[in-house]
Amino acid sequence: MVDWLSHVLLAWIICQILQVKFNFFGGKNTAIVMVGALIPDLIKIGLLFQWMDMDIWNFITPLHTPAGAIITAAVISLFFEEQMSAFKLLLFGTATHFLFDLPLAHVSGGMLMLFPFYWGRYQIYLIPTDDYIVPTLALAVALVIYMVKRGKCTQDKLAQR
Ligand SMILES: [Zn+2]
Repeated sequence: MVDWLSHVLLAWIICQILQVKFNFFGGKNTAIVMVGALIPDLIKIGLLFQWMDMDIWNFITPLHTPAGAIITAAVISLFFEEQMSAFKLLLFGTATHFLFDLPLAHVSGGMLMLFPFYWGRYQIYLIPTDDYIVPTLALAVALVIYMVKRGKCTQDKLAQR
């Protein structure tokens, strides 16, 4: 699994790019997508239980599957005023999560992408999970986008004067 920082950053980057064309992905909606990108990794609460000597992995494994993430996103979207658009944004976030988890070489032997219909695990062996390339690259790209946007804002302000 790419770490949480990478998932949040990658979701933010995608939103910034999409925002150029679609206003829908801007503002607070970007934050909802970023939350969505973390949903599948809720599975890591298993570590907490493991630390307390409880083995709940088999119960929470579905969290890190598309089917489980869709249900989790639906439940979380109930807390929003505009439930449907929140649900779509959360789903989009989880989609980015799985998209970036797939190229990783998982210790556990891949992800159950078609759970509960098929128990086969999927992964594309490209990046080892302990590789720092992804977070570093994501951080660099995010910084560049941030600087460009900031530069554009100041330019617009100057033009208004
Ligand atoms: Zn993951």
